[in-house]
Amino acid sequence: YKAKSGHSGHHVYRSADNSHGATRLRTLQELRIALTEDQLVLHYQPKVELGTGKVNGVEALVRWNHPTRGLLFPDQFLAMAEEAGLMHTLTQVVMRQALDQAAVWLAAGRSLTVAVNLSASSLVDAELPVRVAAMIESRGLPASALTLEITEEFLMADRDRAREILTRLRAGGIRISVDDFGTGYSSLAYLRDLPIDELKLDQSFVFPMADDARAAALVASTIDLAHGLGLRMVAEGVENGVAYDELVRYGCDYAQGYFICRPIPAADLDQWLARREISASTE
Ligand code: C2E
Ligand code: MG
Ligand code: MG
Ligand code: MG
Repeated sequence: YKAKSGHSGHHVYRSADNSHGATRLRTLQELRIALTEDQLVLHYQPKVELGTGKVNGVEALVRWNHPTRGLLFPDQFLAMAEEAGLMHTLTQVVMRQALDQAAVWLAAGRSLTVAVNLSASSLVDAELPVRVAAMIESRGLPASALTLEITEEFLMADRDRAREILTRLRAGGIRISVDDFGTGYSSLAYLRDLPIDELKLDQSFVFPMADDARAAALVASTIDLAHGLGLRMVAEGVENGVAYDELVRYGCDYAQGYFICRPIPAADLDQWLARREISASTE
């Protein structure tokens, strides 16, 4: 698991933070408890459709509401969860909460697709498509209420298996999104043959857009290539109006970033959405 540090886009392995044996062991024990005692919470960040300004999707991002250390971010515990073999449980917990929230939104008349991040280790779970389908069905949700964000690492680790699992998920109507696109080793030629719906262009391509014309040109041509393959493009890490406007001009389909809204709890997102609807209707 790679955590991104700020704008430089370089990767830091934060698990080293907790490498002191005793601290690490304590944190690991605490994480096991956190998983069973509902200490993990989700924040949601809207994905805005650039053509219309509409929000038809949100990404669920996990946080750990630690009893003494406060709110912890994924780079402070995901690597540990992965190493300790807790990722499967974590994914279950996140999926359950995200789908519960999707059901609340549906009941409130909001049709939002909730995107859940899957780590590459989910690839070994052959039961995933069946289990996810059951979770969706038991809540009376349409399959389109769920989007799964996978990484290039997920796709490249075992290509045949990735294809099979994705085909089964997508046959049920779940949407598949390739996260952090451009940071891994997959090529568009390879992605062309996979059952996927959208690419999320990594933040490291979007950050420099505002002050680097060549970076902007790279983004523009990547959007065109994605469209040529029939894929939608989402830009992540949109932090300012300059990048936002350029993405609109380049025909990017969706954008996500602090400029639009930070990841926030569901109740805050509801207020954000309501304010946005009011200002749109009075324009
Ligand atoms: P990601 O899926 O690529 O999510 C995007 C990350 O960028 C999130 O960080 C988000 O808060 C942050 N972000 C969004 N807009 C901006 C922006 O404009 N500027 C900047 N600088 N950052 C922005 P977060 O929430 O810390 O999550 C980090 C990573 O942890 C995620 O990257 C994802 O790979 C992983 N992750 C988060 N939740 C889960 C989960 O439930 N399961 C799994 N397996 N991984 C998760
Ligand atoms: Mg993601
Ligand atoms: Mg990403
Ligand atoms: Mg990422």
